[in-house]
Amino acid sequence: MNSVAERFLRYAVISTASDPDSSTSPSSSRQFDLLRVLEKELTAFGMEGVYLSRTGVLYARVPGGVSGETIGLIAHVDTSPESPGEGVKPQLHKNWNGLPIDLRDGVRIDPAECVDMLRYKGGTVITSDGTTLLGSDDKSGIAIIMETCKWLIENPDIHRPEVVIAFTPDEEVGRGVDNFDVDRFGADFAYTVDGGEVTDVSSETFNAWSADWNITGREVHPGSAAGSMVNAVRIAGELISLMRSEEMPENSSGRDGYDYPLFVKGTTGSAEVKVILRDFTTTGMIKRRGRMEAIRDCLASLFPDSQIELTMKEQYSNPGEILKKDRRLVDYALMGMRRCGIEVREGAIRGGTDGSRLSFMGIPTANLPTGGELFHSRREWVAEEGLSIAFEGLKNTLIIWGEEL
Ligand SMILES: [Zn+2]
Repeated sequence: MNSVAERFLRYAVISTASDPDSSTSPSSSRQFDLLRVLEKELTAFGMEGVYLSRTGVLYARVPGGVSGETIGLIAHVDTSPESPGEGVKPQLHKNWNGLPIDLRDGVRIDPAECVDMLRYKGGTVITSDGTTLLGSDDKSGIAIIMETCKWLIENPDIHRPEVVIAFTPDEEVGRGVDNFDVDRFGADFAYTVDGGEVTDVSSETFNAWSADWNITGREVHPGSAAGSMVNAVRIAGELISLMRSEEMPENSSGRDGYDYPLFVKGTTGSAEVKVILRDFTTTGMIKRRGRMEAIRDCLASLFPDSQIELTMKEQYSNPGEILKKDRRLVDYALMGMRRCGIEVREGAIRGGTDGSRLSFMGIPTANLPTGGELFHSRREWVAEEGLSIAFEGLKNTLIIWGEEL
């Protein structure tokens, strides 16, 4: 195994799922299990300013580097709570023959679903045993950044910018940079190493809003409900049926956004519906929010005796416009990945990263690939060779920053 893959396997078995229902920071104390390992290893490498905050953000600086712009590297320690993350047992599929991989519990990884997977035919594909996610998102990013730090320290003569790093908790529950100290980090530009296919460098993310609905009905014994019951369950159903199915995630791809009803709970007396809205453009997002308001007005006229509350909140924004102002961040990454001899495209990530918010906190941040795919699921996989390409691409990117200094 190459050193990045070996490192990844070591981190993958440490459970770090975040918890969307917790209000602490980090949301789960198990994230400290990995953070403390990383803290120790960074100190042993000889990194400077190694600091693990109470809220679970780990910062460090690689000694040396030419002054000019300081480049930050970021990955998140938590794994998605959407799929089981306890007791990960990584499986190595050596000399993979290019056919679907069958894991326990009928979990099948089919290369037909992953455009990029056949690149690794003959190589080593790493998966879970099928009962958990793998945690390549984002322990691959962590392994790549750790190996990059080690390489920079072992090669002090490389002409390169100053490099700082940070590992964040709770990215998967949207709180990765809630307690992020921009001044302590000290970067002018940053890369999250949190992407998928090695061919993708992302300079855009979605604009993201949440739309939370609270519906109040009126409870009456059903036997004597005529003319007086107001059933919040029925109103919740009507709400979802008023949403456009062609705008739902299962019917959107590429640069489409979506309106996604992802949670519903209720009784006759009250119901709760959670919807998230995603769009790459500001005008598109205004339309989506407008549709939610129109549905609220429609429900209010259909059910005048109910109370319908709609609360919409911004979650993160597309940093695309910010990254356009100084193209170096994205261009150097594209060049760096191309030096690995692969075709690379600049893309838009159909989700968000810590970088979406960091860009608006003053650190323009683009996203680099890790090589992993099918994140947040028991089919998640990464190839040893993909990790190696992503690692080489990041090293090249830093070297290119150095060439331009
Ligand atoms: Zn991630």
